[in-house]
Amino acid sequence: MANAGNAAAGSVRTGSGSPGLAEMLSLSSHPSDSSRTLLGLMALSHKARSNEQSENQILEGVVDGGVLRSLLSALHFRDSATVRHARRTASLATALASFLGWDGRPLKVLEVAALLHDIGKIGVPDTILFKPTELSPDETELMVLHCNIALDVLQACRVDHEVVDFVAHTHGYFRRAGEGYSIRGTIPIGARILAVADAYDSLRSAHIYREGKSHDEAMAFLSKNAGTQYDGNIVSALKRWHDEKGAGQYQAGQMDLTMGSTTSNPIEALEASTLCHIFNYLYLLESLYDGFYLLDSDLQAVVWNRGMESLLGYQAHEMLNQPWTGRELAYADAECKPLADNLLPLHRVLAMGRAVTTMAKVKHADGTWKDVEIQTVPLLDSQRHLYGVAEIIRDLARAGKKPQEFRELRLAATRDALTLVANRGELETQLALYLRDQTKPGGSTPFSVIFVDVDHFKSVNDTFGHAAGDRVLVELARMMQHEMYSGELVGRYGGEEFVILCPDSDLATAFNRAERLRNSVMKLDIPELKGRKLTASLGVAQFVTGDTPETIVQRADAALYQAKHKGRNQTLSLTPEQLAAADKPPTPTEKTADPFLFTSGFQAVIGHGMVIYKLGGFVTDRDAKLLKIQEDHVRMQVGTVSLFRYWGSDERSQPVEMEIKIGKPVNHNSRSASVKVEIDVSIRPLGRIRQPEIFQERSKKLFTELRAYFFAEVMV
Ligand code: GH3
Ligand code: MG
Ligand code: MG
Repeated sequence: MANAGNAAAGSVRTGSGSPGLAEMLSLSSHPSDSSRTLLGLMALSHKARSNEQSENQILEGVVDGGVLRSLLSALHFRDSATVRHARRTASLATALASFLGWDGRPLKVLEVAALLHDIGKIGVPDTILFKPTELSPDETELMVLHCNIALDVLQACRVDHEVVDFVAHTHGYFRRAGEGYSIRGTIPIGARILAVADAYDSLRSAHIYREGKSHDEAMAFLSKNAGTQYDGNIVSALKRWHDEKGAGQYQAGQMDLTMGSTTSNPIEALEASTLCHIFNYLYLLESLYDGFYLLDSDLQAVVWNRGMESLLGYQAHEMLNQPWTGRELAYADAECKPLADNLLPLHRVLAMGRAVTTMAKVKHADGTWKDVEIQTVPLLDSQRHLYGVAEIIRDLARAGKKPQEFRELRLAATRDALTLVANRGELETQLALYLRDQTKPGGSTPFSVIFVDVDHFKSVNDTFGHAAGDRVLVELARMMQHEMYSGELVGRYGGEEFVILCPDSDLATAFNRAERLRNSVMKLDIPELKGRKLTASLGVAQFVTGDTPETIVQRADAALYQAKHKGRNQTLSLTPEQLAAADKPPTPTEKTADPFLFTSGFQAVIGHGMVIYKLGGFVTDRDAKLLKIQEDHVRMQVGTVSLFRYWGSDERSQPVEMEIKIGKPVNHNSRSASVKVEIDVSIRPLGRIRQPEIFQERSKKLFTELRAYFFAEVMV
C-alpha cells in the first residue's frame, strides 16, 4: 500500500500541523499551475477538517463554520445579490420545512444547502452570470459545469453529504440540459423543498432583465410546472404556508445595483479572490477533462467529481473518505493485466515527487475497459510538503476525432506485424521501464539507445517496388535481431526506422555495436534488390542522470540527423553537452525571420468567459495536450507525441506547440454582454525539423482552424 510518509515529495502534514490558510492561499493567489491552485482547495479542506471537533455546535457538524463564512464571503465578493438570494431562499426553505413538520438536524442540512446552492456561481463568467437575456445552449452547458464545480468544492470542504446531494438535485434540471447526466434515484424531499424555495425567490425578485413577479404570478408559474419541474405537494404547501403565515414573513429581494461589491477587509478580499481563482480553475478541469479526483495528505479521497462517476460508474459516496491504496481503480496495461505496484500512477508520484502522465486502461463498474490518459499531480507547497494528490483523467475514446486510431494504438500487440520485432508502443513501454530502474537508488548501470534509419529507402521502393521494400525491412529486422544478442531490444519505430534499447551498455559500447550493425547492413544481400546494396545512418545516446525517456531519445534522434546531414552511412553519438552546443544557434550575421516560428492573431467577439470554453473544443477535437493554463494564457501541444520521433513523416501529425494569449476583454457595446478579445497565437515546432515550408503550412492551417472555433458561432 502507498505510504505517504515515505513520499520523496517530502514530509506529509496532517490537519494538526497545517499551515495557516492565508499562507496556503497566498501560495495560490497567483496560480501558475494546477498544483498551486488545487493546493488552495486543499487549504479549505484542511480548514474544514482541523475544526471538525471544535466549535460548530450551531451548525451540528453539517459544515465547518469558518468554511461556510469563507464560501459566502467569496460569493459576496463575486455577486452580493446571489448571497442575498441564498439567504432568502434559506429562510423560505426552512420556514416551509418547519411548516411541514421538520426540525433538528435535517432542518440545518436544508438551511446550509440553501445557503450554498448557488456557490458555483463564483466561477461563472460575468457575461453569463449577468447576462440580460436568456442563455444560449452553449452557455447553459457552462452553467451545468458550474453546478458540478459547486459539488467539487462542497466535497472538498467536507460538507455533509446530504447537503451535496440536495444541491446536486436542486440543479437537476440544469444537469438534464447537459450531456449524459440523469437524475439518479428519487429526489430527496429536502431538494424538492429547496427547488421550490429557490424558484419562488427568483421569480419574486427583480433581475436585470425583468421585474420581480407578484406572489400570485409566481405561484401561477410554479403550479403550471408542478409535477414536472417542481414537486406539486411542495408547491401547494408553499401556497398554504403563505396564506396562513408567510405573507408578512417573506420579503422579496430588490434589484441590486451594486453587483459584485467588494469587501473592505483585505484578508477577506484576498481569500475571496483566491477562491474565485480556484473556481475558475475547476471550471477548466471540468470543461477540458473527463474526470478528476483529489486525495488529501492521508490519501483519502476528498473529491470525486461527476465526470468520474460517469467515466467509471462509481458514485462519490462509494469512493470518498476511505483510505486510498492506488488500487481502487483497476488500472491495467494494453492487455488488461493489472499494472504492477511500481507502475501505478499514485505510487510513481509518491516515489518521485513530481507529476506523471500514464496511458492505461481502466475498468468501468460494468466490467468494460476504457483507454485513458491519467495525469497524476502531487500537491506540494513551496517547502515540498505533500498536501494531497490530484488525478486528472481523459477518456481517449472521447478525445478527438480519432478514437479508433487511439484504441488501435493502445490495443496493438507488442509486435510489429511486418517484421515481428517489437513495435513502437512496446519500445516506449520498455524504455520507460529501463529508465525507471536507472533512477532507483543503487540500481544504475549504463544504458544506451541506438536509432537506425535506412538511407534513401524511398528510392528502393521507387526502383524495385513496395513488395521489395517490405522484403528489405523484414531482412533488416531479422539481421538486427541476429546481431543483437546481449539483451538488447530491437524495435521498429515506423517506416524504415528502427530503435535498439541497449541495457548494460555505455556510449562507447553502444557506438561499437551500432558500427557493427552499419557494416552488416552494407553486407546484406537481398535478392529482390538485384545486387544493389543498402546503407543506414545511426545515432547513439547514453542515459545520464536527469534524463527522461524524451530527453535520451531526443539525443539519439539528434545524432541520427547529424549522421544524415554529414552524408549518411555513418554512426554518430551525442552527449548532452554536445547536443547543447549543437543546439546553440550560430551568432546571426543578419536578422532573419525565424522560419520555425509562426505568429498571428485575430479578434474574437465573444463572451469573455467563453474564450477558454471555445478553446476547450479545439483542444478536445485536436487531442491537444495542455501544457499550461492561465486565465489569459494557454500553452498546448498539438499533434501526436511519440517518444521517438518528434517530427513524424505525416504532415498532420507533426507536433507543434501553440501558445495562445488572451487579451483583456473590451466591451465594445455597452448594451451587449459580449466583448472584443484579442487572441494572439504563436506556434513553434517541437523537436527537430527539416522543412520550414511544411511547418509554416501546417501552422497556418492550425491557426485557421482555431479561428474557426471562435467564429463558428459568435454569441452576442
Ligand atoms: P533518408 O536517407 O533521408 O532517410 O531518405 P529515405 O528515403 O530513407 O527517407 P524518407 O523518410 O524520405 O522515406 C522513407 C520511405 O519509407 C517512404 C515510405 O514510402 C517508405 N516506407 C515506409 N514504410 C514502409 C513499409 O512498411 N514498406 C515499404 N516498402 N516502404 C515503406
Ligand atoms: Mg525515415
Ligand atoms: Mg531513411
